[in-house]
Amino acid sequence: MIQITNLSKTYVMGDTPVKALDGVTLTIEKGEFVAIMGPSGSGKSTLMHILGLLDVPDEGSYKLLGEEVSHLSEDELALLRSRTIGFIFQQFNLLARRSALQNVALPLIYSNFQASDDHAQELLGQVGLGNRLDHKPSELSGGQQQRVAIARSLINDPPLVFADEPTGNLDSASEEEIIQILTRLNEAGITVVIVTHEPEIGARTKRIIRMRDGKIQSDERVEHHPLPGPLPSRERGKESRKFSSGSFFKEMAEHFRQAFGSIVSNKIRSILSMLGILIGVAAVIAMLALGAGAKSSVETQLASLGSNLLVLRPGAARTQGVSLGAAAVSRLTLEDARDVKQNVESVSRVSPSVTGRGQVVYLDKNWSTQIQGVGPDYASMRASEPSSGRFFDEEENQKRARVAVIGKTIVRELFGTNNPLGEYFKINKVLFQVIGVLPEKGANGFRDQDDVIVIPLNTAMRRLLGKDYVDSIDIEVKDASLLDTAQNEIQELVQRRYRLDPNQQQKSFEVRNMADIQAALSETSKTLSWLLASIATISLVVGGIGIMNIMLVSVTERTREIGLRKALGAKRRDILMQFLIEAMVVSVTGGLIGVSLGWTVTYLMSKLSGWAAIVSSGSIILAFVFSAGIGIVFGLWPAKKASQLNPIQALRHE
Ligand code: ADP
Ligand code: MG
Repeated sequence: MIQITNLSKTYVMGDTPVKALDGVTLTIEKGEFVAIMGPSGSGKSTLMHILGLLDVPDEGSYKLLGEEVSHLSEDELALLRSRTIGFIFQQFNLLARRSALQNVALPLIYSNFQASDDHAQELLGQVGLGNRLDHKPSELSGGQQQRVAIARSLINDPPLVFADEPTGNLDSASEEEIIQILTRLNEAGITVVIVTHEPEIGARTKRIIRMRDGKIQSDERVEHHPLPGPLPSRERGKESRKFSSGSFFKEMAEHFRQAFGSIVSNKIRSILSMLGILIGVAAVIAMLALGAGAKSSVETQLASLGSNLLVLRPGAARTQGVSLGAAAVSRLTLEDARDVKQNVESVSRVSPSVTGRGQVVYLDKNWSTQIQGVGPDYASMRASEPSSGRFFDEEENQKRARVAVIGKTIVRELFGTNNPLGEYFKINKVLFQVIGVLPEKGANGFRDQDDVIVIPLNTAMRRLLGKDYVDSIDIEVKDASLLDTAQNEIQELVQRRYRLDPNQQQKSFEVRNMADIQAALSETSKTLSWLLASIATISLVVGGIGIMNIMLVSVTERTREIGLRKALGAKRRDILMQFLIEAMVVSVTGGLIGVSLGWTVTYLMSKLSGWAAIVSSGSIILAFVFSAGIGIVFGLWPAKKASQLNPIQALRHE
């Protein structure tokens, strides 16, 4: 069954090499019951680990079941180990947070051995623990724990069982139970190799091998036990046992089960690592929603400004409130407006306007508001087509008709819930009729853009405000690309008309480009969105680092578990997948909770503050994909680290 020749293993501690095994040659037949004895440090465990495929020798050959194994790869060793060898350790090495039954069934994951569902239960029954299936290791005595470990070593029905000082941590009563179980196993045909330094145990076996300083000192068969004859009823060996090929989906399902198991059994740790990602995702959702809300309200305002517009204003030549005097244009006239329209090629329409304040009265209601006198083109140029009623036309403007189009605030303050259309009211004691209601534009900074009454320009200039000049001229340009040209031409025109010093003209009147304002506004909202998005990204990354930290700590904390899983046959990939899935499940769950939290926070914020906030499906997908990604990226490193551990070193880890 086992044939080793000239096996050597040297550990280097600092500068001094320690020969743990020094040319060991040994043969163990099928069905033997062997005790390896010797003083501490003589190389017993090292030999055992090499025999158990947990470690590889530096030199020498090892034939297991007739096959040379000393040069197999790590994964090949893992598979062979899980299918042929059962291990019993001095420290039991049970998973602390799993039940006895789960512990016994653990190796099945890695061997794909087709055992019946109650095989684990049956084995626990055989070691006298049929009534302790759901107990956790901490709820069992030392002897009972070791019996669980023995049941676990038998789950794959192995032809070989190794036990490294299985009774080292036990009282004599438990010791007796363990040795009896091992004896029964051997009687059933299993080859048992046991490391011990207790002579009573040695005396119960059929062969005692004594070691000293890495060498075999003596090898004797115990007198009253002849070499085993023909094997008892059950023939053991690879051939008689069934292993499934292990489908990908079954394997993944198992990894998921293991990951979930360890998440659930470490609730606090899982919640803590979830928290980081949760807050990050919630922040992303809320920030993006606020950014989108801000952007859409800016866009509404932009639309209310009208497009392709230039505004010509006089008397902008004020520096710190002092007029620059003679060279400044202080008043624009209707002729200026006409001139601009006729002489500047790229201009399509103009609308001069005057403004003033007015006291308005309707029945017993009083209100002070802004009066704007404008041309009939104002409605389409300034996105002010009435939401109900109509705008005035050129004829009404020429006839100085007393008609008014009023803003929503005026409707509210004067007419309340009544329909204002057709009603008569007074502006500065002059009677006007309401013919239309302006579309709602909302507040622009501190100014309420709906607190306004629009009347025909001529009515305003001649009847109401008594002005013979205009305050500003709205100029519509044919195409947005012509805005700059038009702006220059208008500047030259005004300069010529008023014979301005070219060096002064910039300051004496002003052509404001609405596109500039729009650009500035959308630039601001873009900056805001970026700012919010970067804050959100930072919180996500911080959340990710949190996950990585906890994963790293968890890997360190669970080094023994990893060692055990590997000793039971887990391949690198198995460990990697388990930890990766754990990280992903944690981060995706955190992400999902974060999405709903972010949604709630956004909703509450927009309710409480009145800010516009728009949760887009894009931001949800982004946050979700990002959190899963963070789980993978930040889980990968610790998972990789865990998967690369050597099983023996990992098992020794304190
Ligand atoms: P035993 O099980 O007989 O007490 P071991 O096989 O554990 O002895 O150890 C044999 C020798 O190898 C000891 O001198 C020990 O110090 C040394 N040794 C074992 N493992 C390591 C290791 N990982 N690194 C360095 N030295 C080791
Ligand atoms: Mg030892």
